[in-house]
Amino acid sequence: MKENYPWNKEVLQSLNGLRSHLPNALLIKGAAGIGKLDLALNFAQSLLCEAPNEDGLPCCQCSSCHWFEQETHPDFRLVQAAALSDSDDSSEKEGGKKPSREISVDQIRSLSNFANLSAHQGGYRIILIHPAESMNLNSANAVLKTLEEPTEKLLFILVTHKPQQLLPTILSRCLSVTVNAPNLEIGTEWLKQQGVSNPEKALALSGFAPRLALQLAEEGDGSEERNLLISAIQRPTQMDALQLAEKLQRAMPVQIIQCLQQWSYDLACAKLTGKVRYFPEQSELLNKLSLNVSSMRLLGFQSELQTAKREAYHPLNAKLQFESILLSYRQIFSSPSA
Ligand SMILES: [Zn+2]
Repeated sequence: MKENYPWNKEVLQSLNGLRSHLPNALLIKGAAGIGKLDLALNFAQSLLCEAPNEDGLPCCQCSSCHWFEQETHPDFRLVQAAALSDSDDSSEKEGGKKPSREISVDQIRSLSNFANLSAHQGGYRIILIHPAESMNLNSANAVLKTLEEPTEKLLFILVTHKPQQLLPTILSRCLSVTVNAPNLEIGTEWLKQQGVSNPEKALALSGFAPRLALQLAEEGDGSEERNLLISAIQRPTQMDALQLAEKLQRAMPVQIIQCLQQWSYDLACAKLTGKVRYFPEQSELLNKLSLNVSSMRLLGFQSELQTAKREAYHPLNAKLQFESILLSYRQIFSSPSA
């Protein structure tokens, strides 16, 4: 089974409490990077397990558990976008086509046989859709159709961190279960156990999502560019936006934009309350910078970042995008700061 994160134990227990009266569809929602998928997989495995323990965890011994862990369980289907299912190979596929980030209607339609058969093991059949917001309108409608005519002992588990992007008609047919991010203490402790060297910082950088924090710490991916960016934006008046954009090209746009979002969030907080969230080490400097920030322009900058983030997975030209964002960043400072 997947790791049963300390902060998810309680919610797993409440899921177990539903065993005797499961709905047709469960919606597991919460922030990204806190282990919702692992939670959903553990719950699914335990539902199919022949001898779950009293905490509701799968036994990991029975043949059902064995199949589940081999990803061959006949009563379980995991539906993900191709971009997630294909192993880490994010490079372009043959023919220059990138793996889709959407769950297609064909993926849902191909489940119709599965949905109509009775379970091999006489228990539940489970379809796990992750992340549910990556269904496009057609695939969402296909799911809706199945939910409108529920089959006995067929359970949909939808995992999402953007429930607001799901069709209201789907939401209304799901029983919603919220997964909360752990508090600082639990999150930091877990990261420490994973061997992350500066857990407090890693947790803050990830937006308090421990799984994501661990991933970032392990990959170290883009951390060089990130450090470059952070050191440059600390001195906006001396920042050479064009040169910096050039150096950031290798980074993932989404990481650069997220870093700027966190930085500008902290600038706004510093200005309003004198406190910061994501960059505690630069708290003093952020407070100083915030004195020269025009609130109106900062708001404008934040909405520009929002837009940029939506396009970040397929930017036409990352360098140009960075340039324009960094130039905007410089302009939020109304008077030159020392
Ligand atoms: Zn088992």
